[in-house]
Amino acid sequence: MKANIHPEYKTCTVKCACGNTFETGSVRESMSVDICSNCHPFYTGRQKLVDTGGRVDKFKRRMGQVKED
Ligand SMILES: [Zn+2]
Repeated sequence: MKANIHPEYKTCTVKCACGNTFETGSVRESMSVDICSNCHPFYTGRQKLVDTGGRVDKFKRRMGQVKED
């Protein structure tokens, strides 16, 4: 195997928006991601729906008001 053909492969520290950090191999030394295996719903299995902007909460509140009326 010839040297100096491939970029240098080093340990890359990945920072996720959730605060989790993990290491992987990359030609870059560091990178950031919005979602990782620690917080992605597919991996956590805790929630199927990512509620952006609290739309589900608003809907639940509205349904509650209808019942009270
Ligand atoms: Zn994450």
